[in-house]
Amino acid sequence: MERFDYLVLGGGSGGIASARRAASYGARVALVERGRLGGTCVNVGCVPKKVMWNAANLAHALADAPDYGFALAPRVVDWGKLRAGRDAYVARLNGVYARLLSQAGVTVIEGTARFSGPRQVEVAGRRLEAEQVLIAVGGQPRRPALPGAALGLDSDGFFELAELPRRVAVVGAGYIALELVGVLSALGAEVSLLYRHEEFLRGFDVCLRQSLARQLPAQGVRLVSGAEVSAVEREGDGQSLRVVLREREAYGGFSHVLWAIGREPLTHALGLEAAGVARDAEGYVSVDELFATTAPGTYAVGDVTGQEQLTPAAIANGRRLADRLFGGQPASTFNHDCVPTVVFTHPPIGTVGLTEQAARERHGDANVKIYTTQFTNMYHALTMRKTETVMKLVCAGHEERVVGLHVIGLGADEMLQGFAVAVELGATKRDFDRTLAIHPTAAEELVTLR
Ligand code: FAD
Ligand code: NDP
Repeated sequence: MERFDYLVLGGGSGGIASARRAASYGARVALVERGRLGGTCVNVGCVPKKVMWNAANLAHALADAPDYGFALAPRVVDWGKLRAGRDAYVARLNGVYARLLSQAGVTVIEGTARFSGPRQVEVAGRRLEAEQVLIAVGGQPRRPALPGAALGLDSDGFFELAELPRRVAVVGAGYIALELVGVLSALGAEVSLLYRHEEFLRGFDVCLRQSLARQLPAQGVRLVSGAEVSAVEREGDGQSLRVVLREREAYGGFSHVLWAIGREPLTHALGLEAAGVARDAEGYVSVDELFATTAPGTYAVGDVTGQEQLTPAAIANGRRLADRLFGGQPASTFNHDCVPTVVFTHPPIGTVGLTEQAARERHGDANVKIYTTQFTNMYHALTMRKTETVMKLVCAGHEERVVGLHVIGLGADEMLQGFAVAVELGATKRDFDRTLAIHPTAAEELVTLR
């Protein structure tokens, strides 16, 4: 039996952050990873997605370039070159993480971990034991249990595509569906988005959803709402795919179907019963506000807990846990009402705090004041192609504290972080008003709203 102070299962965002922080306090740390270091974010998530989003932005810029006086012939993306560059970057990052862990003195063990008892784990024939164990095994794309589901790809498969897919049906309504719809369409694919309710991105402020729904058709994306998929079939030509819908006509002629209907935790084969760790009905590891599971000395952070499925949340919680367990620091958690997040759509969405609806439910209609604006970014003064910008401030109480800030439009992704600091600090509308604007920018509209 090999013994450690801290055993971390999963070398993704949460696991690596927690392992390195614990090692910095002198703990003897081992980290088990079954695949590539960096986890979902680095290998099949944030990082390769952002590269593709950048490529899509370039496609838009190339389309706009003639309007700014550049004589450019229309171009199509060299998908192979884009993919090779992206994958090489990801491989470099895998190496960076291996180096960082080694420099921190963390023992990296390759293989799939499975609990054999409380705080005891088996990996590739090795038996490990630790004072404290962290479960940070993340999740994987969910696939529907429908006939023909295997004919479709998921987001992992998207990153393996060898060429630009020609005609894609994206099924889903969340971050991944909307981000990949924008990328695929900008790079030249014909895209349909099939979602089962009347709106996508439910849970986001209504102004963001409605604006994106107005803008996607202008990018050539076909929106199919109320689409409950019942099967995927191969068409008579043996090549194309048809998406069969409940109680309405099927949509056919697709080269690819992409499932983006959420993710599920990787807990089914982890032997959690042997460790005494309870899961909820959906398989997520149940944790209290200090990330403790139902088993003593056993913790969980990141996607596997079913809380905010965002890299910075996994990192922050992983570090805070290590600070507490090995750094002698008091318990700390982050403010769940103030989680800034960007959806890398085209144009991007930046959002922090409460939606208008949530604020009205919490504070009452009479205590909520909304400031909003809609305009076309000055970038488009010369371009035929247009995007729309919508901004909303949700203020609560007589002092008009800004409890929600929502933006869709060019630059919203980079605009948000600074404003999130202000919202976290409890800024009021008056604080926004007395902040001098930066001109000419889109962001200045947020401090000049009336
Ligand atoms: P992961 O990063 O998933 O790491 C878990 C690790 O555990 C994996 O490496 C896995 O191989 C390993 N593992 C699993 N089981 C075992 C086992 N039994 N033994 C050993 N190892 C095991 N978030 C953002 O903040 N911004 C974004 O722009 C963003 N974009 C995304 C785009 C996509 C397409 C996807 C899918 C996700 C995106 N996310 C984004 C979410 C983000 O990737 C996750 O929230 C984050 O990676 C969660 O970190 P984690 O440590 O909990 O899990
Ligand atoms: P999401 O949970 O964001 O969205 C999936 C959506 O698909 C659901 O909200 C639901 O919407 C719809 N859905 C669920 N089941 C079905 C079904 N059986 N058939 C049809 N539609 C269904 O999941 P994603 O996969 O998009 O992303 C997973 C998580 O990863 C995100 O929640 C986010 O936390 C993270 N992520 C973050 C990104 C970022 O920070 N930029 C980017 C990508 C991912 P409805 O109920 O309305 O139908």
